[in-house]
Amino acid sequence: MVTAVRRAGERGATVRPTGASARVPGALVRTTDLLLDCSALTGVVAVSQDRVLVRAGERLASLFAELAESGRSLAVVPDAPGATVGGAVGMGVYGGAPREGSLSAQVVAARLVDGRGEVRTVSGAELDAVRCGLGALGVLTAVELRTVEPERLQVHEQARRLEEVLDEDLLRAHAWTECDVAVPSGQVIARWADPVDPDPAPAPPRAEGTVTTRAAVRAEAWGRAVSRLASNPPWASWPPPARWSAGTEGWPYEVLPDPQPWDPDTAEWAIPAEALGAALRELGAAATARGLELQRPVRVRLGAAETGLLHPAYGRDTAWLRIRTRASQEPLRRLAGAVLEDASGRPAWTSRHEWGPDELAVAYPGAAEFQRVRDDYDPDRRFTDPNLERILGP
Ligand SMILES: Cc1cc2nc3c(=O)[nH]c(=O)nc-3n(C[C@H](O)[C@H](O)[C@H](O)COP(=O)(O)OP(=O)(O)OC[C@H]3O[C@@H](n4cnc5c(N)ncnc54)[C@H](O)[C@@H]3O)c2cc1C
Repeated sequence: MVTAVRRAGERGATVRPTGASARVPGALVRTTDLLLDCSALTGVVAVSQDRVLVRAGERLASLFAELAESGRSLAVVPDAPGATVGGAVGMGVYGGAPREGSLSAQVVAARLVDGRGEVRTVSGAELDAVRCGLGALGVLTAVELRTVEPERLQVHEQARRLEEVLDEDLLRAHAWTECDVAVPSGQVIARWADPVDPDPAPAPPRAEGTVTTRAAVRAEAWGRAVSRLASNPPWASWPPPARWSAGTEGWPYEVLPDPQPWDPDTAEWAIPAEALGAALRELGAAATARGLELQRPVRVRLGAAETGLLHPAYGRDTAWLRIRTRASQEPLRRLAGAVLEDASGRPAWTSRHEWGPDELAVAYPGAAEFQRVRDDYDPDRRFTDPNLERILGP
């Protein structure tokens, strides 16, 4: 990596580091100059009691598998098992644990090659620039992450109403949560997970001749809920197919990631958690008023406030809204953006948006500090391209 960056410097070329997106580059790694594929930089270097040192090209799925062998895990399990550690940290990839931050928040130290081809070990305050660095500060080669002892989870899935979910604060009430919300009808498929009780209460005696397992009870409840909703569906695709069979238990990295493929037309926003209910209602009202239809449910998750200077959850507990539009639904994508921006939203770096330095300066109190670190780490702007320049400025 050092040689690659120095050679690029000698040729006056710019470099964009990339992980798993090397073959199908997303917006932040599309470049007309050099794309530096870091996905071969793999391997777990060391697992200690509550830390793992891992090379930046390691895929999340392999990292979770290796950690499991040492009886460890990460506190956050994103949906993207194919993402690399460097890409996930660079983008601030989140999971669905309402009291946990993103993968970037788990970073305790990082090693990177800066714009002059020098190796830096980053810890302390500057780490907050690296946590969601968008590949603008250097090429991450290794990252040290905080680990936790994994707990087996039992997962649940239930049809609910949005008002109930908000009144009960369901999204905050469990170790892991997410909701698919039909907007504007307010129908919800709520999913949650909690550690399996290691010492469950004895099962109540059964009436002779009946066999009623917990799994069977849940399957029946799910079936009832789904047929109740199916009798009045907002769209043909509602409700979404059940993610798990009833009574499913497993390790977090086994049961939590959603196997649905990532949709490149997804509009994703991070809004203050307390604004969630009002924002969903406003989104429904605005779409209805304009005759626009959200044809797929809005995926909602919560996450804790971040310290990463450019992390969309910086400084506030956050509700993430993933709005799956189609390429032909540009007006809807823009409308969602306008509504969620009004709710003090910040676009997720994975989604398409029109934000630039002016928006960043207003919405991110740490934007100027990020630029100071950028000036120090990459004074010649080795790690840029027109797309990144549009967002961060020159
Ligand atoms: C199936 C699927 C599910 C997903 N689910 C989620 C989810 O649940 N939550 C979520 O937040 N996101 C999710 N995403 C989006 C995900 O955040 C990004 O796809 C992920 O960050 C990409 O990782 P990558 O290795 O492909 O990085 P890339 O796309 O290659 O890079 C991402 C950013 O990191 C930088 N970068 C990459 N490698 C390095 C490096 N070594 N050093 C410095 N900078 C680097 C790049 O320059 C770029 O700015 C999902 C994506 C997919 C495909």
